[in-house]
Amino acid sequence: MTTINNEFDLATLQKQVHYQLSDSRYQHCLRTSERAVQLAKLNHYDLQKAQIAGLVHDYAKERSDADFIAMIKQEKLDPELLNYGNAIWHGVVGAFFIKYELKITDEDILNSVRRHTTGDVRMTTLDKIVFMADYTEPKRDFTGVEQAREITNQDLDAGVAYQLQHTLEFLLQKHSQIYPLTIASYNQWVAQK
Ligand code: GDP
Ligand code: FE
Ligand code: FE
Repeated sequence: MTTINNEFDLATLQKQVHYQLSDSRYQHCLRTSERAVQLAKLNHYDLQKAQIAGLVHDYAKERSDADFIAMIKQEKLDPELLNYGNAIWHGVVGAFFIKYELKITDEDILNSVRRHTTGDVRMTTLDKIVFMADYTEPKRDFTGVEQAREITNQDLDAGVAYQLQHTLEFLLQKHSQIYPLTIASYNQWVAQK
């Protein structure tokens, strides 16, 4: 497992992430990292893993479509992924860029990146922390974000359900293509059985 054991290594990782991203997206990663630490404290989770996962979660977001397509083929990922785009790829495919370029091999961290856009049917505490930190970091300003923050602080699972419901409503309203895992997550966390 690769962990970051001291401040110097964290600074190095921050530089590597910054190098790949616009300044504004890098700042979003820093805020997500800090919010992830806050949620880790509230949920008795490893602060350092939350800090790292939050920092790297959007590492691949500015890669070209060609880079993602090449990685989908190299890793023999589900070819169905080719029908989607950056919104889905930067997490599920982006995790491989993080593994190979940042040398982060911790599967808990990589999985939390893979799941950070769509959620999943089963989510670890770290998955939920990154999913909700990304959605509720301090500069998010969509309608309902204050409520999302309060719910998430009270109950991480309730936060996950809140995000999945509101994101799906938002995507449907825009007539966006819905990735099957987004629907599966909604069915698991929100839908009445
Ligand atoms: P960001 O990377 O910090 O902007 O946040 P996310 O990774 O959570 O989301 C990236 C974008 O993907 C957002 O605009 C989401 O609304 C969108 N998104 C989430 N699920 C889906 C989906 O199933 N289909 C599509 N087309 N977009 C999605
Ligand atoms: Fe993202
Ligand atoms: Fe993000």
